Amino acid sequence: MNLNTNYKKLQDSYLFVEIAERVARYKTENPGAEVIRLGIGDVTRPLGKTVVEALKAASDEMGTAEGFRGYSPDSAGYPFLKNAIAEYYKSKLGVDLHPDTFQVNDGAKSDLGNFLDILGHSRVLVPDPVYPAYVDTNITAGNEIIYMAGNENNNFLPMPDYAIDVDVIYLCSPNNPTGAVYSREQLAEWVKYARHTSAIILFDAAYGAFIRGPELPASIFSIPGAEKCAVEFGTLSKMAGFTGTRCGWTAITEYLVRNGESIAKLWFRRQSFKFNGVAYVIQKAAEAALSPAGLADCQAAIDYYAGNAEVITNALEKAGVKYCGGANSPYVWLKCPDGLSSWDYFDYLLKEKNVVGTPGAGFGVNGEGWFRLTSFGTRENTEKAATRLAG
Ligand code: PLP
Repeated sequence: MNLNTNYKKLQDSYLFVEIAERVARYKTENPGAEVIRLGIGDVTRPLGKTVVEALKAASDEMGTAEGFRGYSPDSAGYPFLKNAIAEYYKSKLGVDLHPDTFQVNDGAKSDLGNFLDILGHSRVLVPDPVYPAYVDTNITAGNEIIYMAGNENNNFLPMPDYAIDVDVIYLCSPNNPTGAVYSREQLAEWVKYARHTSAIILFDAAYGAFIRGPELPASIFSIPGAEKCAVEFGTLSKMAGFTGTRCGWTAITEYLVRNGESIAKLWFRRQSFKFNGVAYVIQKAAEAALSPAGLADCQAAIDYYAGNAEVITNALEKAGVKYCGGANSPYVWLKCPDGLSSWDYFDYLLKEKNVVGTPGAGFGVNGEGWFRLTSFGTRENTEKAATRLAG
């Protein structure tokens, strides 16, 4: 029996375990303390009414002989949902793509990892700090990872280095954990570099809906030429509160071709023997989330979180703490005051302010000395935490 020994190279995912343990210990020692968690990466607002009605209607439909559906005709999603996604891109993001560009999935995480199935051994460029899934999927695939440093000097937005030749580039904008957002010009630089090296950009647009205003790009496909070098991973998780409902898409145009192969076709081929599609009721819910009424519900939740982010950043400004993110992102990335390490600042916030966040060091070496707070809590708790932070 041969096991994939690359799994031995994975670091223990101790970050959230360690946080939970430190918080539990503190609460046992201080049972009266009211600890507020601003470390959560999960949404807290409920599903919108439009989505709930669609879920109920689709469930009822499935209970009738006429409306019942078994296996979906193809793993890439029902046309009604692909059309709704294309319409969303056109009307909200100003990007005109054929509905078949979108292959529906159960959220971004699966496809971000699974996509490596259709690539051979690759040299991959990964930002640091980073959403840990990019690293773990490449370690287990046996790929060569090259880290690009995000730091204060580049506002946590690393740019291409033409001395490095890679096959795959991971970009996440708005970024988790830093909240930093690439400008149109910066993304155009990445597209230019990817086309120069023939690399494929894997663009994680999980937080695109948090961008306010038309200046910043929410989709890599708003950059000319990206259709020939990029794959975009979209998700309703944070945009529509689908973290537990599970629906997203992988967008690949017909113009993305490598070694004479259509990447979209190759991906479809992979999905057709490893994935049987997203549940019909969930696809109906996703369609509803992308309808005008559904998008209004989404916007209300996003505005709520944006309000929380503003409460946090106002408090940081009052306290004279340096930060990035928050304006177009649910994440606020702050510099630990007084030169504290990420974990020392974690302990200080927990013990002195009873506020829990996420130490930046858990997202890569460049995260050391930085700290992530999120706007996904309730307004009441966020305001309480902000008062403590500012005090
Ligand atoms: N990409 C980033 C950057 C994320 O932060 C997350 C979830 O937190 C995901 C992808 C996964 O999203 P999904 O729930 O669609 O799998």
